[in-house]
Amino acid sequence: MTSSTQTQVQPKLIIHGGAGSSLQSKGGLAAVRRSLYNVIEDVYSMLVSGASAREAVVRGCQLLEDDPRFNAGTGSVLQSDGQIRMSASLMDGTSGRFSGVINVSRVKNPIEMALFLQESPDRVLSDHGSLELARELQIPSYNALTDLRLKEWIEEREDKFKRTMAGVVAEPETPDLEAGRGTIGVVALDTLGHLAVGTSTGGKGFERIGRVSDSATPAGNYATKYAAVSCTGIGEDIIDECLAAKIVVRVGDGMSLQEAMWRSFTEASKNQRDLGAIALDCTGKISYGKTSEILLAAYHNGQSIGDTLEWNDGELVGID
Ligand code: ASP
Repeated sequence: MTSSTQTQVQPKLIIHGGAGSSLQSKGGLAAVRRSLYNVIEDVYSMLVSGASAREAVVRGCQLLEDDPRFNAGTGSVLQSDGQIRMSASLMDGTSGRFSGVINVSRVKNPIEMALFLQESPDRVLSDHGSLELARELQIPSYNALTDLRLKEWIEEREDKFKRTMAGVVAEPETPDLEAGRGTIGVVALDTLGHLAVGTSTGGKGFERIGRVSDSATPAGNYATKYAAVSCTGIGEDIIDECLAAKIVVRVGDGMSLQEAMWRSFTEASKNQRDLGAIALDCTGKISYGKTSEILLAAYHNGQSIGDTLEWNDGELVGID
């Protein structure tokens, strides 16, 4: 079917800026809300003007990667050796194609490399390969380091790396010492009813060199024509649950999105995982879930913008 013969559907959008423990400051919450809403407004208007889900996802990921508050692109956390290594992936639900980069350094927008790899026969590249690709594509060398993330790493080094993860978001006045995580993700449904999803991260922070994040695996980022899911939280927990793929496959097998999310989060909670996810299905249902204390997500349901920043009713899953 060509686009001109297809019925237009109401576009939908949900994005996240990580999951973890509560933000330390109220100012932190307001600033995160502002950041997320700016991205929602920009990307949702693209969708309304007819952009594809894939274009919208890439744009949303770029904007979130460029925001130093979030742990992806600029503002990525440092690994144990003081280096930034980022991972990102993109999945187009219509073509059913997954692509991504793992532990890439010195680029501004890892999601752009994932986009390039959508058309390549080799679709997931690790550190060495992605560096080689960045050189081939003549992507300018970029330093994603921010003063706040460097300060956080130096403090952690003085404390002998006792924390297992870095702050969920970079907060200037009250560093978010107890929190973890901060990856970004975007899920979109376009006017043709097509789904796409992208996820990008600087990793957990302070991890071993070579540790692989869930964000550039189908456990953390997955889509079919029926549903699309982006995860955040402790990557090892997300991989153990195979969360994104599990939810999406359940929907493809006939479960409603709400039921698939509810089952998957009930299992994750029983298994004491620390994670969150955002999801959309092809009928336009929006859903989000978390076992962690907070999930920094915002969405556009066609009528208005909503968010999960103060969602704390003890439920594992929310639906719009
Ligand atoms: N899932 C990411 C990782 O483990 C971290 C995050 O979501 O913030 O690499």
